[in-house]
Amino acid sequence: MARILIAGGSLGGLLAANMLLREGHEVQLLEKATGSLDGRGAGIVTHAALNRGLARAGVTVDDSLGVRIASRVVLDAAGEAVASLALPQVLTSWSRLYTLLHEAFPAERYLQGRAVQGIEQAAGGVRVSCESGERFEADLLIASDGIRSAVRAQCAPEVQPQYAGYIAWRGVCDEALLSRFTLSSVFEQFGFGLPAGEQLIGYPVAGSGNATARGRRRYNFVWYRAADEQTGLRDLLTDADGDHHPLGIPPHKVSWRQVAAMRESARALLAPQFAEIIEKTAQPFLQPIYDVHSERLAFGRVALMGDAAFVARPHVGMGVTKAAEDAMALADSIREHGATAAALRAFEAARLPPGQAVVQRARRLGAYMQAQGQDHGQPGTEARRDAETVLRETAIDPEHPPT
Ligand SMILES: Cc1cc2nc3c(=O)[nH]c(=O)nc-3n(C[C@H](O)[C@H](O)[C@H](O)COP(=O)(O)OP(=O)(O)OC[C@H]3O[C@@H](n4cnc5c(N)ncnc54)[C@H](O)[C@@H]3O)c2cc1C
Repeated sequence: MARILIAGGSLGGLLAANMLLREGHEVQLLEKATGSLDGRGAGIVTHAALNRGLARAGVTVDDSLGVRIASRVVLDAAGEAVASLALPQVLTSWSRLYTLLHEAFPAERYLQGRAVQGIEQAAGGVRVSCESGERFEADLLIASDGIRSAVRAQCAPEVQPQYAGYIAWRGVCDEALLSRFTLSSVFEQFGFGLPAGEQLIGYPVAGSGNATARGRRRYNFVWYRAADEQTGLRDLLTDADGDHHPLGIPPHKVSWRQVAAMRESARALLAPQFAEIIEKTAQPFLQPIYDVHSERLAFGRVALMGDAAFVARPHVGMGVTKAAEDAMALADSIREHGATAAALRAFEAARLPPGQAVVQRARRLGAYMQAQGQDHGQPGTEARRDAETVLRETAIDPEHPPT
């Protein structure tokens, strides 16, 4: 039995912590935030590898995981379906996964208010100091502390998030608020809107209290829009009081003026169904889109996983699935090599190529979106082909691509 510290208590950290605990290790998880993390994030597309990871983490994977849908549809600006595809998927939410993984992990091992700050390595172990002044010792440190990882900043300071040139407006709207037209034409499907150079995706997720009954669900949307880093992005990350939040603006701080302007654009550019969903979403929020690309994941007795290791743009819908695959690879490597630097090197060899590949795939989909809607010659056929390509490539399960 080894002593293993995990930095970061979000989905990646909890997946790894639960798996390693079930392998018989003494695991402690250090999470920077205090209070409930619930309410962060929104919809998550599930894939087969995520289900395997959840099962290995001790979570029962059944129909209560999320909302099952059967198909995808692209709506044009008039609200007409211009392309569709049969593609069964289960859509869940960040909160649902967090609750399940958090419940599976012993509360006394999940330490909040512990921001990892310093790392010292010596033969046979690693010592971690937190901003609180506390110190922890372990055989291994697994860093799942997200896109701005403090651990990565020490081990690989040259790796920095690269802004992709666009942001995502996100939100969830209560099903009960929506018109019959929107409910019947898009609610039960993975919906797409493709204004020039932009993209909206949406899908149903469970409502309050994980309710999946008709009338109690919600529709989750993500709307990608270009924002120049020096001007548009700065404005979007500045709240109504003029305070700038360069590392991400909390949902409740997003300026009402920006929300009003975004809703006006939705009415002008998107299908009326999507405009209605956005209009009736109580608190839309936004996230700049970044790439993080690592060349190394193992640094002696320290390893990076999840968003600390790679961030692929969300077009691939793979962030949590990738974190689950990282966690499974870590558990396998430690089982084979013990809690040693050799285990982390084996983990790196297994996970570096797929991590790099998924970042590239997501970049390609993002570049495709940005180029979309430009003059393609014969508008009718090209528009249809674009729509069908987007339907076939966005947030699909690589193990079960559409036929
Ligand atoms: C618009 C959008 C849509 C997305 N859609 C999907 C989708 O459909 N499917 C999917 O699989 N993924 C999706 N993702 C990606 C997904 O949300 C992330 O990949 C996933 O949450 C990664 O989890 P993580 O645990 O690695 O990092 P994070 O969730 O970022 O967690 C990092 C944790 O570390 C903590 N922390 C930070 N610093 C420290 C420190 N110094 N010490 C201790 N703790 C620290 C933080 O408080 C946080 O709890 C989407 C992302 C975006 C932006």
